[in-house]
Amino acid sequence: MNITITPGRKIIGRLAKGEDLLVALENCAREHRITLGEVQAIGAVSQARVGYYNQPEHKYYYLDLARPLEILCLIGNISLKDGKPMVHAHIALSDHDGRAFGGHLAEGTLAFACEFAIQEYQSATPLM
Ligand code: ZN
Repeated sequence: MNITITPGRKIIGRLAKGEDLLVALENCAREHRITLGEVQAIGAVSQARVGYYNQPEHKYYYLDLARPLEILCLIGNISLKDGKPMVHAHIALSDHDGRAFGGHLAEGTLAFACEFAIQEYQSATPLM
């Protein structure tokens, strides 16, 4: 399935130290009433919580990384869930030895410093 979209607004910003990435990005999307879009970010976190989807069990398992990490890449999309903008993002993080960790971004990932960009899209057809 695919649809044609046209770019809308672009919103860039920084998160304050201690802000929860998922909550703050979702609040930003809601504040700007973005119903379809993409999100990306880089920076660093003081701790992270990422999910891994166990496919046979249809269930997320969460990994808590209670240490400072670099955000190598955060990428995700914004769509409507139950009428409200929802962010679905994945994040890649690295430690002081350059080892990488990552997964489905969950609440509990706290910004040390984070710069983000949200690209809004408009679509004649709603995304399923
Ligand atoms: Zn995911």
